[in-house]
Amino acid sequence: MMHIEEILNEYEYILDLKEKNIKKWEEIFPAFYSISKINTKTLKDNNMLEDIKKLLGYVKPLAVLPEERKIKRFKELKTALNKLKNKYLIDSFEKPEKKINLFTDIKFLKHVGEKRANSLRNIGLSNLYTTFFYLPRDYEDRRKIKKIINTKDGEFSLISGKIVNFEELRINKGLTIINYSVEDSTGVIILSFFNQKFVKDKLKRGLEFAFYGKVEYSYGRRQMKSPEFFEISSLKKEILPIYPLTNGISQQVIRKIFKQTIPQVYYYEEYIPKPLIEKYSILNINERIKGIHFPKSFYHKKLAYESMKYEEIILFESALLLSKKSSKQKKFGISKKISGELLKKYLKILPFKPTEAQIRSHNEIRKDLISKSPMNRMLQGDVGSGKTVVSEFAIIDNFEAGYQSAMMVPTSVLAKQQFLKIQKNLKNIGINVALLLGETKNKEKKEIKEKLANGKIDLIIGTHALIQDDVVFSKLGLIIIDEQHRFGVNQRLKLINKGISPDILVMTATPIPRTLALTIYGDLDISIIDQMPKGRKKVKTVLSTDSNLKNIYRFIHQEIDQGNQAFFIYPLVEESEVLDLKAAKDMYEKLKLEFNNVALLHGKMKSEEKNNIMEKFSSKEISILVSTTVVEVGVDIPDATVIVIEHADRFGLSQLHQLRGRVGRSKKQSYCFLITGNNIPETTKNKLFEFSNTFDGFKVSEIDLSWRGPGKFFGTQQHGIHEFKFTDIVEDMLLLDKIRKELESNQESYFDEKLKKEILKRYGKKLNLINAI
Ligand code: ADP
Ligand code: MG
Repeated sequence: MMHIEEILNEYEYILDLKEKNIKKWEEIFPAFYSISKINTKTLKDNNMLEDIKKLLGYVKPLAVLPEERKIKRFKELKTALNKLKNKYLIDSFEKPEKKINLFTDIKFLKHVGEKRANSLRNIGLSNLYTTFFYLPRDYEDRRKIKKIINTKDGEFSLISGKIVNFEELRINKGLTIINYSVEDSTGVIILSFFNQKFVKDKLKRGLEFAFYGKVEYSYGRRQMKSPEFFEISSLKKEILPIYPLTNGISQQVIRKIFKQTIPQVYYYEEYIPKPLIEKYSILNINERIKGIHFPKSFYHKKLAYESMKYEEIILFESALLLSKKSSKQKKFGISKKISGELLKKYLKILPFKPTEAQIRSHNEIRKDLISKSPMNRMLQGDVGSGKTVVSEFAIIDNFEAGYQSAMMVPTSVLAKQQFLKIQKNLKNIGINVALLLGETKNKEKKEIKEKLANGKIDLIIGTHALIQDDVVFSKLGLIIIDEQHRFGVNQRLKLINKGISPDILVMTATPIPRTLALTIYGDLDISIIDQMPKGRKKVKTVLSTDSNLKNIYRFIHQEIDQGNQAFFIYPLVEESEVLDLKAAKDMYEKLKLEFNNVALLHGKMKSEEKNNIMEKFSSKEISILVSTTVVEVGVDIPDATVIVIEHADRFGLSQLHQLRGRVGRSKKQSYCFLITGNNIPETTKNKLFEFSNTFDGFKVSEIDLSWRGPGKFFGTQQHGIHEFKFTDIVEDMLLLDKIRKELESNQESYFDEKLKKEILKRYGKKLNLINAI
């Protein structure tokens, strides 16, 4: 017995074969005909039979038509087939008897009550509306009764048959098994029920029933354990959802609840703009929500998921655009007066010429500072591209206009380093810079806070110490967040709230392809430094094994003799019993015997100690720094020319790229040695080899992506806004981009009240966060 879906699929399959030139024109009709002849016998619906006859009418003359007409006819045939699919395989809910308010608390719904409501809340189901978007994890196909002989081991199947025999086995006091033999025209299956004596009242010898359960083969017999059973007359042929469950809620119960809530979507108005619905053939809201929960066919389900993906992208991108628009419309930002004289003065004393990309980025920033609406800009640039200088330019402009700046960085090592550098640079033009860390002495902290509050400090650099409540500014005009992905949304927000609509610049080296950056940071403007300072040489990257370390040591001795410095990086601080890996502490002891002026740096050390060591490394009292990945972000030591990364196979490529970026920050030739054991997998070796020849952060991230597979590349959680359920931001990158552009150029007509209301429902308070970042 065939279901209409299978028949239509078979037709489609034949058309596919024709398209791939596997079938000839004259073979199509016979193939269609034989499917129809065998299978339509079981279709009782007269309309369907009529429609199939019509379809055959299209196919029949195909072999004899002239070539041109053949092709035309073939197209019509495909359209006709799709029409049938839409007619028979997709449906929507009819008007439910009673309308229930969308936000009715879940506990008031039928079959729920206080206790179940608590369980449901655990899985995010708090009211009727939330049930629409709770996804099944799988589906059961109950449309087709299988012949016993066709059932397969391990497959859930629906069968029907006559009970021909039964036995009751009392295995022990606690366990009684009832076995039934059920027979259809093709074979026998054994159904076993454990401690379910009540089935005897219903399942009696000679009666026919339908059974649903997992078929297992054992000892050459087919078997089902505790199947569901139905009287054949009451059997509903349908596809049923299987939901993820929680304590206290069974599959039967959740289905019962959903059967009541989901049809309410009938009363829910469509919010996707009509032109988009048409352009992308998106199922309407009733059809798509039904297709997720109670699809009429697997075709319906597939289209529903596809449609939900469009919905998700449209809502998300609209939210970003709206948020960007609303922050642009805020006229109460600070419009700064900048003559540019002060920066000119600074450029004269700067020891190098900024790159074109740096100048371009700064121009974009300056425009924002002058403009009335607050800046919301991301500065993206590969490691070593010189983001810090650009931020200095912004600070200088902001200072000239009479405002304070704050720069937040993720670690105190980095904060200290930035402070020393920036202070040295900016004090020459009269900018007063201070540093605030968690470990700053209380007395000093108090002093700094006072000076901030009365405007005596022009730029404060710090870690999250900056976001404490008692840090108050007199006139905060510019916020810079370095390595922004290291901070949570709330941390960024807290700092931002210390000013009145301050300008915001976030900086990142996380290489995201531009399209992706635009689509997921669509609420930010983006400046990209896509150019390295002049004279930079590629870091020679060499793959090597332990056995070569002696040679590498010799090489490092030569480098140090020429006044250069080196890093040794290990995956662990201390040796572990579980992992057989070299660790920083132990290697420090060994390397001390090999080299002079060696120091150790790791995350478990006190901040003060760490800063002390970084200062010594910076002033070249220390030649060799043995460390973990704490040096991964931002550390800038221009004379460091060698980095040795042991157990390189333990690191992600993007992380390796960041680490490698610690050297090659001057005109000198630098080297990166990637050390691995002898027997790492071939694939890992290939991956590292590819990395050793790739120097562009974007390309590295793409390689990373191709090895890791899409999806895992960039957790949406990092963005802190939204987790996609239907969209893979990497795989669907082009689609995201396309829709974003389309929304952007049709804002006037698309962004109506219905769409805005839905966005508010989905993102609610999170929209504020989008506003801020
Ligand atoms: P990142 O973008 O990784 O934060 P930094 O801002 O720390 O990079 O800059 C890396 C190094 O390059 C610093 O020592 C900085 O002084 C130097 N630098 C920045 N811009 C230029 C330039 N245009 N020419 C030469 N050196 C530059
Ligand atoms: Mg940096």
